[in-house]
Amino acid sequence: MIKRLLNIYIFLLVISVSNIVFAATVINAFKLSVQGSSADFTLNFSNQPDYKIFLLDGPDRLVIDLKNTKWQAPHSNIAQNNGLVKQVRHAKKNNDNLRVVIDLTQSVKIQSHLVSKPGNNRQNYKLVITMSAKHPQTTQIENTNPIPTPALREKLKPLIIIDAGHGGNDPGTMGKRGTKEKNLTLEYAIALKTALLSTNHYKVYMTRNHDHYVALKQRVRSAENKHGDLFISLHADSHRNQNIKGLSIYTLSDKASDKESEELAQKENRPGKIGNILLEDENDDVTNLLIDLVQRDTKNRSASFAELLVQELRHNNKMLFKPHRFAGFRVLTGPDIPSVLIEMGYLSNSQEEKMLNSVTHKKELVSSIVKAIDKYSEKYMVE
Ligand SMILES: [Zn+2]
Repeated sequence: MIKRLLNIYIFLLVISVSNIVFAATVINAFKLSVQGSSADFTLNFSNQPDYKIFLLDGPDRLVIDLKNTKWQAPHSNIAQNNGLVKQVRHAKKNNDNLRVVIDLTQSVKIQSHLVSKPGNNRQNYKLVITMSAKHPQTTQIENTNPIPTPALREKLKPLIIIDAGHGGNDPGTMGKRGTKEKNLTLEYAIALKTALLSTNHYKVYMTRNHDHYVALKQRVRSAENKHGDLFISLHADSHRNQNIKGLSIYTLSDKASDKESEELAQKENRPGKIGNILLEDENDDVTNLLIDLVQRDTKNRSASFAELLVQELRHNNKMLFKPHRFAGFRVLTGPDIPSVLIEMGYLSNSQEEKMLNSVTHKKELVSSIVKAIDKYSEKYMVE
């Protein structure tokens, strides 16, 4: 890695990295997390990138020039207006090249790391740029350790948000043998958390970790504030017809894939109540509009993850005829986070209620979910 410093008016810092150029490198994901006066910007690449990073002033911005690279990450243009970062944008340059620009609110110093990790078919790459605010007169440069520290490794771990459905005054559905959905979802959420942490590849955040009510809006908001990479909401279903059983995976859509999915979304969207007072009151039109505006890009990612889940869970043999369905679940509306909702089975079917309560089944289901997350992570979340 070659370091260069050009201390002229415009160029503050140039880090140039020469690499072997592969055919069209693809940026398949990016992430920006801002914490007070510092921010991490990460780009995931399909193969080894050939890039230059430099800072410009008047106005302050960070530029990444990439040779022979295509942007295929969701969200081409994000308004951030959060601490250091005003927005991230990108544009094609000279046909095959790409320029990514981070508009900054002030001058920063940066550190960058290119991290690679072997995948199934190919090596995966992730470029991490840490920006921190500096006083205007200093031109201190901190750069560039190719071997990430354990702290950085930890920071790079994808964050999985686990959402245990319902809770507190909102019990969800109820089984014939007395199983409450809210308890079942929490048990599975905790088991999933434990399994994910034991791989040492992920960080986990739970929208609730005990029996209390959390509004749907709050679940989405906390997932966003934590900068989650994947959102998994766990539920169990019930049906008038007690013979119906099976597991279904849902992703968000403004149109439900079928009548039943629509009814289910309405049921899961129903706010919790204390007595007759609604705990949550949202304007449906506004919600729908938001869903339509913000979710389009992450829908594809959610669908990819759902398909991976379906593949893993097929071995389980208990899938519904339509394993991947679409409906307007409010809890899946996190704009930047690929999100799925798993209806793990029907508590109205006594056989399935028994199965959902069994330790063996819980282990199997959780292990399938972890496998799907591993596959998804290999594709979209370089560690
Ligand atoms: Zn539910």
